[in-house]
Amino acid sequence: MIEGVTKLAIPTPFRVGAVNCYLLEGDPLTLIDTGPNDKASLDALDAGLGELNRTVEDLELLILTHQHYDHVGLAAELKERSGAKVAAHELLAGFVADYEAAMILEDDYAAAVMELHGVPEKTSTALQERSRSYRRYAASVEIDHVLREGDVIDAGERTLTVALRPGHSPTDTIFIDTGAWSAFVGDHLLGHISSNPVLHRPLDHEADPRRRRPTLIRYLASMEETAKLDLEELFPGHGENITYCRDLVYERGQHHEERKERIFAEFEKGPRTANDIALRLWPGLPVDQAYLALSEVLGHVDMLVDEGRVVEEESAGVITLRAAG
Ligand SMILES: [Zn+2]
Repeated sequence: MIEGVTKLAIPTPFRVGAVNCYLLEGDPLTLIDTGPNDKASLDALDAGLGELNRTVEDLELLILTHQHYDHVGLAAELKERSGAKVAAHELLAGFVADYEAAMILEDDYAAAVMELHGVPEKTSTALQERSRSYRRYAASVEIDHVLREGDVIDAGERTLTVALRPGHSPTDTIFIDTGAWSAFVGDHLLGHISSNPVLHRPLDHEADPRRRRPTLIRYLASMEETAKLDLEELFPGHGENITYCRDLVYERGQHHEERKERIFAEFEKGPRTANDIALRLWPGLPVDQAYLALSEVLGHVDMLVDEGRVVEEESAGVITLRAAG
């Protein structure tokens, strides 16, 4: 860990486990990410700050890495209690300004994608119900410092440069500490697991489920951009710090390359929907993982379509994929 930075691992009620928040001592006293809007998470954050002889009320700046509620859910509460300013990329600022409305659009988009790719209505309905019940883990917050690519922001004793790295979500932002050869990366890169390339509603163009963003292609490009920075240490949103960023990015690339070939092998047996592929790859997958699995498959399909090896055909509102030629 670099000087003046403390990692606070805040427990969450989600499958992913604890979320990392980072306290940056100095002026302004800064917290990067907040944990979800949940009593147990807030208690843990209060206790964690207490051990450092700090309180929520001392916070002067909150920086947010991306739109997922385990990272931004408590921002409104912390801002209210401390009067801290909140900083986020402009795409994220728009999203969290009205979180409820953003989530409704998000769910509608996911439902349209699922219908188009053969996910049974029962699964889609269950997922939407779950998503509605999870909205309480977030709250809308007004962003005071709207950040753009290349902006520089003072946080604690450090100076951080803003870079958008879409892939895991469209709002993934990393904050590069050039002086310390390090960066706070949210879920852009995690050491212990491969981050899901979630097919979210695009925030910078029309949300047409038939013209989806190639999430995984963008994500791989984002990872390459980060690898090129040659940073010594990354501070992720979950798990341990990352010290071999280039190796990790190479590993992730290999992993996706292998999965892409495995998916292509399924198409060689015959036409399939993306949902068929997801069920073949992950038999017995819990319902709450269905959209993540579909996103994963579609991400690889985008690569195969790009390479001219798979084509999509729509009939009666459902897209079938088959090997080209
Ligand atoms: Zn996330």
